Amino acid sequence: MRVNTLKRAAVAFALALPGAAIAAVVAAPAAHADGCYTWNRNLYQGRSGDDVRQLQIRVAGWAGYRDIVENDGRYGPKTAAAVKRFQQAYGLRADGVAGPQTYAKLYQLQDNDCTPVHFSYSEMDDGCGRGGWRGGPLSESQTRQNALRTMWKLEALRRGLGDKPLYVSSGFRSRACNDQVDGASDSQHLYGNAADVTSRTSSLCQVARNARNNGFSGLYGPGYPDHDDHVHVDSRRENNSDNSSNTTDWSAPNCGIGAGND
Ligand SMILES: [Zn+2]
Repeated sequence: MRVNTLKRAAVAFALALPGAAIAAVVAAPAAHADGCYTWNRNLYQGRSGDDVRQLQIRVAGWAGYRDIVENDGRYGPKTAAAVKRFQQAYGLRADGVAGPQTYAKLYQLQDNDCTPVHFSYSEMDDGCGRGGWRGGPLSESQTRQNALRTMWKLEALRRGLGDKPLYVSSGFRSRACNDQVDGASDSQHLYGNAADVTSRTSSLCQVARNARNNGFSGLYGPGYPDHDDHVHVDSRRENNSDNSSNTTDWSAPNCGIGAGND
């Protein structure tokens, strides 16, 4: 970052705020020119725009039990509630308003390529050793975007499990890769919209139970066929390119998840 950029960002930030908030901003940390994305105004219920959409990507993992935060660029009650849970999880003042403190934490959590600090594109790309984002039903950029959103939900899941490492054993799969591992024909993995995770510190059932709060509408774990050695999470409700109905589908019978036990 350069000093000029920083100053410009600070000025833009102050100008973007309603008058009453300016006094508070003077004392707050200077607006920060981030390598990935920089927010230039406070966000709260009623605001809309691409900055809201960017925020939603990063707080979607704090959606709450069996819920999702739509990536629609509109700051509604669900976005506010997710921001509040994010703030609580990181020890910030929990007011559901995204301002300097919330942005500072997000800047700290994101790498320059916009991935959350504990996950990377490379661990989410074609899991059969080919690498890359080609060979699925979506464009490379759409596939990567889905993978990015998945990673931010995983970051929230990881935080909820005590900030211990989670391992992605399969993320995006090209059609060839999906065939190779006998994946479902319309698997969310094809869209970059799913991850299979393991942990060395939490049981798979703990991972699965926690994941119910992290905006994952697809969840399969112990007791579901072929899911005794990992937990599969995906965002099928948000996927309008697949053939599935946009409903929640959870099953981990050995963990008491699914079949009406959710
Ligand atoms: Zn899977």
